Amino acid sequence: MNSEPSTRHDSAPILAKSESSVPADFVCRRCGNCCQIAGEVRLDDRDINRIARFLQTSRGAFVERYTRLARDRRGLALIDGEGDRCIFLDPQNHCAINPAKPRQCRGFPRRWRNPGFEASCRGCSPPPA
Ligand code: SF4
Ligand code: SF4
Repeated sequence: MNSEPSTRHDSAPILAKSESSVPADFVCRRCGNCCQIAGEVRLDDRDINRIARFLQTSRGAFVERYTRLARDRRGLALIDGEGDRCIFLDPQNHCAINPAKPRQCRGFPRRWRNPGFEASCRGCSPPPA
């Protein structure tokens, strides 16, 4: 198990915006690195409704197929895909539900992040020459 930071957050401390900085020129490069690391993606009611609509399925069917109890047993989280990949990370490392992705994912890394997130986030490094 890897404890690197990710949109799938784990038990590592989560930094508030003021405690760590995202480069001013940060642009998500859609590398998918933050979606294939140990952790969990928690879902709120709005996430569930939005994703179910996007997948053109019912809320109940989505919950049944794609969610589990969160580790603190206080809500739902996405089930995992293979290894530590998110169930919705496609083979090209793109989010298959990007237009409807959970609020937790939308907030990374600007609204929340873990210590050392820069190491695996390509949006925080200069693009390859
Ligand atoms: S829902 Fe999408 S953005 Fe969020 S962890 Fe999964 S693949 Fe990544
Ligand atoms: S650039 Fe950063 S935020 Fe965007 S997918 Fe890669 S690791 Fe995630």
